[in-house]
Amino acid sequence: MKRTLISELDNDHLGKTVTVEGWIHEIKRLKSVDFIMLRDKTGIVQVTVKKTETPIGIDLGSLTRESVMRVTGEFPEKQISKKMKEITASKIDLLNVAATPLPLPVAENIESDLETRLNNRFLDLRRHENYAIFHTKSNLLWGIRSFLHTHGFVEVNTPKIVASSTEGGADLFRVQYFEMDAYLNQSPQLYKEILISSGFERVFEVGPAFRAEKHNTTYHLNEFTSIDIEMGFSNHEDAMAMLEGSVKSGIENALSHAHNSGNYQLRMLEVPELPFPRVEYSKCLSMVQNAGGKIEFGEDFGPEHLRVIGEKYPGFYFITKWPSELRPFYTMVDPDDETLTNSFDLQFREREITSGAQRVHDPEMLRRRFVAKGLNPEDFQFYLNAFRYGMPPHAGWGLGLERLAMILLDLKNIRETSLFPRDRTRIVP
Ligand code: ATP
Ligand code: MN
Repeated sequence: MKRTLISELDNDHLGKTVTVEGWIHEIKRLKSVDFIMLRDKTGIVQVTVKKTETPIGIDLGSLTRESVMRVTGEFPEKQISKKMKEITASKIDLLNVAATPLPLPVAENIESDLETRLNNRFLDLRRHENYAIFHTKSNLLWGIRSFLHTHGFVEVNTPKIVASSTEGGADLFRVQYFEMDAYLNQSPQLYKEILISSGFERVFEVGPAFRAEKHNTTYHLNEFTSIDIEMGFSNHEDAMAMLEGSVKSGIENALSHAHNSGNYQLRMLEVPELPFPRVEYSKCLSMVQNAGGKIEFGEDFGPEHLRVIGEKYPGFYFITKWPSELRPFYTMVDPDDETLTNSFDLQFREREITSGAQRVHDPEMLRRRFVAKGLNPEDFQFYLNAFRYGMPPHAGWGLGLERLAMILLDLKNIRETSLFPRDRTRIVP
């Protein structure tokens, strides 16, 4: 018996016997007929059960919502409803019975609060609009992956259990690694740079990044998905071009595979035009100061500052040439002005989605940068070694996939874009 997905029920199936499987969305019992709305991930079909007919195998009175069943029946020539496809059941198999009451409504058009939804995430995700988020995220990522493949990148996987911090920061989760102390990696930065010295030339990685930051905002997670690239024989301009190309390709792919089943409207950004504007940090600084913002050269923009800048640049844009003190040790200094760096952030309005830069490739300069940042080069020997025997100039970036998905779908909370989000207080489910 071949299963047909609800979205596949088309003119070719008219008048034929089909088998569909899914969850009971709703049950409507009338005098002479019963209706069961059956849902699979692709849509909802109305199953008509006529009372006069021979028994179909189950007691409809005991059916509960969200139970799982298989329905075999005719997909009639005459489809009465314009809105919903219909099947006339001849046999129903109840595959699994759902308990009642449901801890979270699935079918109703009720907005539950996010906490309750996340506590019952397995049910929450049954709602088509939530499935659509992850379907979109998957296609977004696929579009980025395929762009990078087309441009000669190889996908790699670097360790997430590491011995030292990437940036010397304190925002690390510690783990016990047998008799040693270890950490969960904040970023694949050091490893992807090492692979440039290994001759891979162009690498990318899609993997988890862990940040033990105690913030509790609508755009931070403690575990998020980082898309990282590193490219040899390249500078920050090359990396920016690769970034805007990736973002465009991701959005194009998400749009062309938009998932529109069920009764919700999936809203997405339009495909952005390239190139994205490039705006220097110093120009952004003046904009903020002119708007009355209290900020000096060398300080990072706060949320209220980014709002001012975002109003001037309502789409994607780069902020370039960040001051040296704001960027990590591996960032290349601007050869024309050593207070600045060959670095960039990609923004969407007030939100940062990527940080990137040309990197230092000269081991002596790298040592000096470690010291200037108050770090001990001895702690980074495994990394420095890779620079001593032929490291090409290189550049790269790290993009937060959940941040980009959030922007693409205009969602207000990043937790919506994570299946099982980890935040300051949540590690279950
Ligand atoms: P922010 O200032 O927004 O906290 P960051 O500058 O500390 O971010 P980076 O280290 O530059 O972050 O990381 C690169 C990208 O990874 C960011 O631009 C963002 O898209 C994403 N990212 C970083 N931290 C988080 C987080 N806690 N939750 C979700 N995404 C994150
Ligand atoms: Mn950043």
